[in-house]
Formats: sequence, structure tokens, C-alpha cells
Amino acid sequence: MKINLEEIYNLLFEYYGSQGWWPGEGIEIAIGAVLIQQTNWHNVEKAIEHLKEAGCLNVECLKKISLEKLEKLIQSSGYYKAKARTLKNLINLLIKDPQPDRNALLSIKGIGYETADSILLYWFEQPYFVIDEYSFRIFQRLGYYEGKDYLKLQRVFMEILPSDTKLYNEYHALIVEHAKKHCFKTNPRCNDCPLAKHCSYINEPNI
Ligand code: SF4
Repeated sequence: MKINLEEIYNLLFEYYGSQGWWPGEGIEIAIGAVLIQQTNWHNVEKAIEHLKEAGCLNVECLKKISLEKLEKLIQSSGYYKAKARTLKNLINLLIKDPQPDRNALLSIKGIGYETADSILLYWFEQPYFVIDEYSFRIFQRLGYYEGKDYLKLQRVFMEILPSDTKLYNEYHALIVEHAKKHCFKTNPRCNDCPLAKHCSYINEPNI
């Protein structure tokens, strides 16, 4: 029988401990959620540092700054032209509505489910379970899911787990930590993996 989602959480929590996500607070969470698309956190940190140095880690400055200057400040995060436009549109939305709902966020070009749900969960503390590449791979290996349908895998979590913002926050952070430390290596570190007993990858390493 496959391991249940609570057990997976407990094993990950026991092994990695509390992750204390998300770095930053307020608008910085939304900016980070946009900038992290298609890159790593190191590059996002550099871009956020540049915004901070320019005094532009706030709605007022992001509203006033020219698109060209914004592009330059966030260049290290890659796809900076598209991301700058997304940030500008997001700021315009936040000025009209400081706590937009999911549909409003999704109406902005460049904001998909993962970005919208990261903003809703980590900034507005609403119970949306965030799905990412790591979740697809790990939960396929654990026999939970096949395919890449964001909403379907999200439903698996949200129908089984209690609707608890803190739990969703910590669980997603633990998945990311597990991916980085064990599962997303070129050769996954299965020997000392806390989920090894429950993982099909060990027997079928093509998964
Ligand atoms: S046993 Fe290996 S493949 Fe399976 S979850 Fe752990 S690290 Fe990933």
C-alpha cells in the first residue's frame, strides 16, 4: 500500500526540520515568485539586492520606475524583459486591489498557477498548495501521480490534507529541500533518502 501524504510529511519534517519559508515578506514575496520562474534562487537574490539598493523593493517605486530601468535591475534573474512587464502589471493590479484573488493574479500575462499560488500562500496566507517540477517528479516516484497537470496534483494534496496554510507552506518547502538534497541530483541520493522505503524509483530507475 502506498504511503499516505501525512506520513511523507512527517518523514521529511523529521529528516530536514522546519524550513521557515518564504524568504522575505510582503511585496518581496510576490517579486520573488515572479523572478524565480525559469531560474534559481541565487539569481533571484541578486536581482532583489539590486532592487533593494535602488530603493525599489516597494509598490511606489515599482509603479514609478521606467520599464527599462526595471529590466536592468532584475537582469540577473533571466527573461528580464518579460518579467519586468509582469511585475509592472502586477503592481498595477496591487494598487487597484491590495489583496487580489487567484483569478485576478492569473489574468496577468506571465503569472501561472505556481506563481499565483506562491503569492497567495506565502504572502496572503491563503491555503493553496503550491505545485512545482519537484512535486511532479517526487510524487510520481512515490506512486501518487503521473503526468504534469498542476490542478490535478494540487487537488490530490488539497483533498487529502487539512486546509492549513502553515502545513501547506512547510510541506512545499520540505519538497523543495528534499529535491535539492536528494531527489533532483543527476544520480538521486537514494541510499540515505528518508522516503526510500516507499519509492518505486529504486526498482524502476527510469521513473
Ligand atoms: S529514494 Fe531516491 S528517487 Fe526515491 S524519493 Fe528518495 S531520492 Fe528520490
